Amino acid sequence: MKFKTEYDVIVIGGGPGGCVAAQYAAGGGSSVLLLERHREIGVPVRCAEAAGAAGLLEFFDHDHWIIRKYIKKFRIRFVSPNGTVLDLNHNSEAAVLDRKIFDHELGRMASEAGAQIVTGANATGLLIDNGHVKGVTFEYCGKKISVRCKVVIGADGIESRTGRWSGIDTTPDFSDMESCVQYTVFHDSIEKDRLVFYFGRDVAPTGYLWVFPKNDGTANVGLGVNGPHSKKRKAMSYLDSFVNSKYPKVSVLNRTCGGVVCSQTLERISGNGFMLVGDAAHQTNAVSGGGIVNAMKAGRIAGKVSAAAVKKGDTCADSLSEYDREWYRVQGKMNKKFYKIKRIIDNISDETLDDIAKKMSEKPEKKRTLVNIFKYALIGNPGLILELPKLFS
Ligand SMILES: Cc1cc2nc3c(=O)[nH]c(=O)nc-3n(C[C@H](O)[C@H](O)[C@H](O)COP(=O)(O)OP(=O)(O)OC[C@H]3O[C@@H](n4cnc5c(N)ncnc54)[C@H](O)[C@@H]3O)c2cc1C
Repeated sequence: MKFKTEYDVIVIGGGPGGCVAAQYAAGGGSSVLLLERHREIGVPVRCAEAAGAAGLLEFFDHDHWIIRKYIKKFRIRFVSPNGTVLDLNHNSEAAVLDRKIFDHELGRMASEAGAQIVTGANATGLLIDNGHVKGVTFEYCGKKISVRCKVVIGADGIESRTGRWSGIDTTPDFSDMESCVQYTVFHDSIEKDRLVFYFGRDVAPTGYLWVFPKNDGTANVGLGVNGPHSKKRKAMSYLDSFVNSKYPKVSVLNRTCGGVVCSQTLERISGNGFMLVGDAAHQTNAVSGGGIVNAMKAGRIAGKVSAAAVKKGDTCADSLSEYDREWYRVQGKMNKKFYKIKRIIDNISDETLDDIAKKMSEKPEKKRTLVNIFKYALIGNPGLILELPKLFS
């Protein structure tokens, strides 16, 4: 693999955020190098792989094979702590992806746009001149390499170091960290077209447990628990209790674990010569923990802004702060509201959840909507209740 001595843009990380950033930066006329530390884009998968159709359709045509293969109508079921079942009137179009295949396709699209993608390349630091990021150092095939560039896009995920290297404090509040564990299983009783969410302090304290059926007949069964509320019990111990009682003797085809930062976006996500994208910038939805589409939206903005800044010949903080503003307009403002909702629902007791589930399950089907559920949960917060239709449309 040959490297140029200088690129316009270097992207660190080949997840959804990094691949889309590389695609749009290259599409905007920049020379782009994307560095991914693993040997393959999309591996290992640390994800429940669910995403809404509307978000995905911003990036793929209706007849793209990803859309045809994965998007379908799912029914949604909530199960409250005492086992009350609430089937929502929400025939939502969504996808339970295969992240390995999905991320590969995003990598292919970036490469088609002209980006140079290199796997097995671990970024180890930034080149910084007078407070301006000017390049990246990385290890590749046992060699230490330095390459200069005009903009670095740090899309290096939850364990991001790009932020810290460029002087941003990326430490999340402990109470916003969900630690997640997931098994991929096959079990006859799992319905192929239903997404099921379980709630309760004994199931997944201040988080939820999900059962997401995949195209191939298997399902991702996982949960996220919040450190301060998990009574020092490990996430896997909660998952084992659930799986052992619900699907005894089931085989586990894959086990994965990872963290999700359920907060609002970092205050600053760009600076002199750099931007942060996706999990690296804390851009997940704080209520659902979903971050695939948000990372892609951020990557698209960062890619476009970086290419325009390179063309202008101005990659200083002021010029790149267009990314912060555009992110806030497109998604950051909404994420701030999701975070407020998250802080409120974190403190809802099991008894209240049972009560909401009972009241809602007694309503006619057309009233059993997400907006109406959250209306109960947010009683006493009229400002947020008014925002709900927009947030959960
Ligand atoms: C258990 C679990 C379940 C989840 N379920 C869902 C879900 O159902 N739906 C959803 O929308 N979101 C889900 N998420 C969140 C989602 O996976 C992330 O928000 C999403 O992957 C963020 O994309 P990203 O591009 O920012 O980061 P990532 O996908 O994490 O990609 C970052 C990439 O950077 C690479 N990298 C890191 N450091 C370096 C380095 N030094 N040099 C080179 N490369 C580097 C990594 O190897 C990785 O490939 C889940 C997360 C977890 C942990």
